[in-house]
Amino acid sequence: ALASQVRTFDGVGRTADGHRVELLANVGSPRDAADAAAQHAEGVGLFRTEFAFLDHDEAPGIDEQVAAYRQVLAAFAGRKVVVRTLDAGADKPLPFLAGEPEANPALGVRGLRTAQAHPKVLDDQLVAIARAAAAESATVWVMAPMVATVDEAQEFVAACARHGLDTAGVMVEVPSAALLAGPILAHAAFASIGTNDLTQYTMAADRVLGSVAHLSYAWQPAVLHLVAATCRGGAQQGRPVGVCGEAAAVPALAVVLVGLGVTSLSMTPRALPDVAAVLAATTLDECRRLAQLALAASSAADAEAVVRAALPVLT
Ligand code: PEP
Ligand code: MG
Repeated sequence: ALASQVRTFDGVGRTADGHRVELLANVGSPRDAADAAAQHAEGVGLFRTEFAFLDHDEAPGIDEQVAAYRQVLAAFAGRKVVVRTLDAGADKPLPFLAGEPEANPALGVRGLRTAQAHPKVLDDQLVAIARAAAAESATVWVMAPMVATVDEAQEFVAACARHGLDTAGVMVEVPSAALLAGPILAHAAFASIGTNDLTQYTMAADRVLGSVAHLSYAWQPAVLHLVAATCRGGAQQGRPVGVCGEAAAVPALAVVLVGLGVTSLSMTPRALPDVAAVLAATTLDECRRLAQLALAASSAADAEAVVRAALPVLT
């Protein structure tokens, strides 16, 4: 057992044999950023910018956005912050972006797709991110949600470059992006797997519907195979592949993700100590062995059981 009642994270994620795995935080507000810094997160792997757009009848102005983003960047001076552009639609509706009513909002105009109907919203946001980055010392990376095609990735990276944002990546949340990770990462500087949506779209099971929760479960071997495919694409192109979905916060899954080739894990700050502890107790070879066992399992329950049985119990 990994005994320790008051476990803390010392700010450097690594396996038992010293393989580095960046342990980052997901934040959605300046308050979250302060919490994440207090927990020694190495940086921010997912800065959800929706908070700057909520409670607005129209899109917030550039100055207002700059002020909001600076508050988060200021908490991570000298460290990395991955800023995600607006992910509206489906489970995150915004009145000023609402288009035609959709019968299936999760399959509709959401994430990066809203930028096609509202190009100024994305453009203004990139201006604001670039200004906030110039004013603060954090290292800013930018990524787009819900990328489904190579063209979308290429266009997003080009739009970022026009604003001087040179490290532009994509979220892998749609199975098509996982399968085409190699070609996508020929354009994008990095990928970050959103396992919440990737699981939903792989299993065709609504992420917020309790009655299908057994399907919308990241231990599903099919989801793990898509994570593996994304990591192969990253390795082909020499690009980092992180995970920023809730799976990264589950210690036993974190081990599997690292074994599949994931290079960073981003999670709710309170999960950092337990994830760091289980990684520190497991060698990279063991992570790889457990990942292969999970891939070979014929059900989510078997994948989870075989991995958990091999890991020390967190107490
Ligand atoms: C995800 O889908 O896993 C993710 C991190 O994005 P969000 O939960 O904001 O959709
Ligand atoms: Mg998502």
